Amino acid sequence: MSRPVQARRLEGIDKNIWVEFVKLAATYSTVNLGQGFPDFPPPGFLKEAFLRALSEENHMLHQYTRAFGHPPLVKILAQFFGKLLGRELDPMTNVMVTVGAYQALFCCFQAFIGEGDEVIIIEPFFDCYEPMVKMAGGTTVFVPLRPKAPKDGKLMSSADWQLDPAELASKFSERTKAIVLNSPNNPLGKVFSRGELELIAELCVKHDVLCFSDEVYEWLVYDGKEHIRIATLQGMWDRTVVIGSAGKTFSATGWKVGWTMGPNRLLQHLRTVHQNSAYHCATLAQEAVAQGFQRELMLYGKPDSYFVQLPEELQKKRDWLVQSLDAVGMKPIIPEGTYFLVADISKFRSSVPDVPDSDEPYDSRFAKWMVKNKGLAAIPLSAFYSEAHKNNYNHFIRFCFAKEEATLKAANDILQKWKQEKTSP
Ligand code: PMP
Repeated sequence: MSRPVQARRLEGIDKNIWVEFVKLAATYSTVNLGQGFPDFPPPGFLKEAFLRALSEENHMLHQYTRAFGHPPLVKILAQFFGKLLGRELDPMTNVMVTVGAYQALFCCFQAFIGEGDEVIIIEPFFDCYEPMVKMAGGTTVFVPLRPKAPKDGKLMSSADWQLDPAELASKFSERTKAIVLNSPNNPLGKVFSRGELELIAELCVKHDVLCFSDEVYEWLVYDGKEHIRIATLQGMWDRTVVIGSAGKTFSATGWKVGWTMGPNRLLQHLRTVHQNSAYHCATLAQEAVAQGFQRELMLYGKPDSYFVQLPEELQKKRDWLVQSLDAVGMKPIIPEGTYFLVADISKFRSSVPDVPDSDEPYDSRFAKWMVKNKGLAAIPLSAFYSEAHKNNYNHFIRFCFAKEEATLKAANDILQKWKQEKTSP
């Protein structure tokens, strides 16, 4: 029997990780490496584009624009991503602008998932996927990325976390409606390899399953790794909704401009949900993002491109934080992408002793203790697991390194001091 709709809609609100940890960070943190947003400004050209839009003669930019996306933005998105996806995109039917990638995800679940439908989610995952599936009436089916210990005492990489092909295949059934793919992955920073994506694609085709491909960190890929778009693999365009975010792309998360791309047969349903929920996104922000993409199209692959410069900058910050965490014994898992880094807190267990029989995963208690007692905010990895699996990997915390050098140095100072206190008699 299906759960009452009301109960289903309220599920999870009382213990939402972001409600809890954002409040803790605001109350106690002196250094916040928790929630994922940069503390540095967006690029000058983007802010200038916004100011131009604001001050321009065209006062209509203060009014509603086209509900499914401001025409200049959908046009440039179609042009820009058409090249990357290797196909001609119709701006009016293959692209839709949303209130951040978050609303894009919400539209996907509401449009395609109903009672009895199963959605496969790869763990660890961006936490909102699960309640969004439930709100739509669907059932979540989880498949884990399993870590393999690296050889020769090396630091682990996010690439060491892999799907077991047989286990993944076993999750597909005639009830499977969709799989959510998030590459580069939040929280691990894993960038799925071509082989891994081909495996997912083959299963989607074989079982006639949709793919919601959350690619919000598409430009944040390091060490020469390539972000491969699953929609370009054989048989996938027709069954994939690609999701992107200007917030992540241009370091402006507060603007909340996102988008979806895909075949009209899928996007038509997203348009219905969008029309009957958010309906519209801020016109000025869309105009500025359109101009940002115009610039990036001209500079594509060149040293002056923000999409080249941002990952270069972030890779340096990643390397710095890896070194800083390694030096204090909080073993980092080197991320191949995103601006997140997961670290092993096992060596710090003496600071926060375990409470036997506690329902709360250890990493969650550790992260709360850390922000209250050390002023350093991070997010427990268990927050990115389903209820049943929360204790499987409960000795890791996630840091965000999209931060000014001074912020990262302040975090390092806290950790160094803590390490000394721990080791002194
Ligand atoms: N997907 C992932 C994987 C994310 O990490 C985030 C933001 N943290 C979003 C989607 C939402 O993006 P937006 O801010 O554009 O709504």
